Amino acid sequence: MKWLFRLGGVALLLVAVGAGAYWYYVADGAVPEATSYKTDIAEWRRLVSGDTANLPSEIRIEFVGRDTMPFVAVQAGGANVDFARARTAFQLNGPDGSVIIDSGMDQDTAGKAQRGESAKFDAAAYGRVIAAMGSATRVAVTHEHIDHIGGVLGFPVPERLAERLVLTQKQFDGLGGATGKGVPAAYATMTHLDLSTPTRIAAGVVMIPAEGHTAGSAMFYVRLNDGREALFLGDIAWAISNVRLPALRPRFVQQFYMSPPEDRGKVGAQIRALHELATVEPGMAMIPSHDDAHFAALIASGLIKEQFVIDAP
Ligand SMILES: [Zn+2]
Repeated sequence: MKWLFRLGGVALLLVAVGAGAYWYYVADGAVPEATSYKTDIAEWRRLVSGDTANLPSEIRIEFVGRDTMPFVAVQAGGANVDFARARTAFQLNGPDGSVIIDSGMDQDTAGKAQRGESAKFDAAAYGRVIAAMGSATRVAVTHEHIDHIGGVLGFPVPERLAERLVLTQKQFDGLGGATGKGVPAAYATMTHLDLSTPTRIAAGVVMIPAEGHTAGSAMFYVRLNDGREALFLGDIAWAISNVRLPALRPRFVQQFYMSPPEDRGKVGAQIRALHELATVEPGMAMIPSHDDAHFAALIASGLIKEQFVIDAP
């Protein structure tokens, strides 16, 4: 009988270890109570306080692609359903011209990066992103992953874009590994921004360092001329529910799916800070890059309009 008890003990131990590993890698989305990340909205507002007459008047979006991923990979402990993932680029239009935030990726790249049977690519939308970049006053990206910087790397005349491109030193340093494609020489020789503090990059637009998802990750604070405010989160959160709950991505995604791995401590601190900011600034729209359902709500609310405006050449 003794061996039977022993066997039972081993089986129980394996179940316990398995349950522990499952919790650790899949289900634990706990965000630390205290945060070291500073969201200094007073400083962001101060940086654009002189822009009154030149503030952008609208935010536009292009959906370059759409696919799905399991929501359990988006939010630890989340429901076992599909998450509708949008691949996006944004255009801010105003008296000073337009600012592009993120650039999508081309069809070839999307074919490798997108997943699931429902994966779609909109070549016309990507064409409008490239055309709009051609006449934008500023082009910047939330981070150096291919679905955000692909359009920059694929821009037909990099020398012409480099003059107007905001690329941080850390974004540039992370490019090689992140893309698997060559980096145009013009992006190597241009001046890279040392983004150590929030920096105004255009009228009404502040770029905010947010290392964690990647070394070159950044957020963008935007103030419109009607007083509305938006904060582009990049991929700090894939779903707005990550911020609202709050909850992190699961460790198996952070450690095994991302290369190089995401810094869970830094992203956790940012999620906590954003969660607190949303509480004190409920009027400010938080915009993660990929949450298709959230975009539907932001479009319905009138904050975001569909399709870029292209200047006649
Ligand atoms: Zn992304």
